[in-house]
Amino acid sequence: MKFEDLNLLRNIQQALTEEGYESPTPIQEQAIPIIMEGTDLVGCAQTGTGKTAAFAVPIIHNLHRIVGSATKVKYIRALIVTPTRELALQIGESFDTYGKYTNIRQLTIFGGVNQVSQTDQLRKGVDILIATPGRLLDLHKQGFIKFDHLHTLVLDEADQMLDMGFINDVKKIIKLTPDNRQTLLFSATMPVAIRELADTFLTKPQYVSV
Ligand code: AMP
Repeated sequence: MKFEDLNLLRNIQQALTEEGYESPTPIQEQAIPIIMEGTDLVGCAQTGTGKTAAFAVPIIHNLHRIVGSATKVKYIRALIVTPTRELALQIGESFDTYGKYTNIRQLTIFGGVNQVSQTDQLRKGVDILIATPGRLLDLHKQGFIKFDHLHTLVLDEADQMLDMGFINDVKKIIKLTPDNRQTLLFSATMPVAIRELADTFLTKPQYVSV
């Protein structure tokens, strides 16, 4: 299979071609069509399998249609929650790369640094927010983040968030988002607590495992 077979918007296809991506990896081949049609997804995949593009590419595709080029007002349409600053920065770079020919604005936030540049950018408006749990809840509590228009929530490396003690923060975050959101959960392993999370908060998810 080739990326062309996925019928992605031309400006995303262009970015992938320039990156030298010809064929989707197994997780991408399975997950991208499911995410494009708006279905919830549980993806069992490790880092290195192309998991990031598996959610970033269809999210950009779906949002590009909603956001369009004319809208100046920005609402957070997609939220990616991930356990560490390093992962957050990597995901941010991926969205930059795959979305370079779109008008989608994205921001990566994490703790351990001054919040001012993050809140300045939030005030200007972002379409996609990539965040670690603690800083996300902190800025939400301070009123800088609203999820009223959220379309898609991604829980990335869910088992690692569990191991790091973020599970209650993750549940709090999910409850802040609209009930009619699309939810995507990625995890390298599927311990009981993660299965329960999926059973509780996802709606008729498709399961993909690589
Ligand atoms: P990830 O599992 O998301 O951390 O991705 C692992 C690496 O594979 C990253 O460096 C990506 O740039 C690269 N990659 C992801 N998908 C593809 C693809 N379809 N073709 C070539 N490289 C890819």
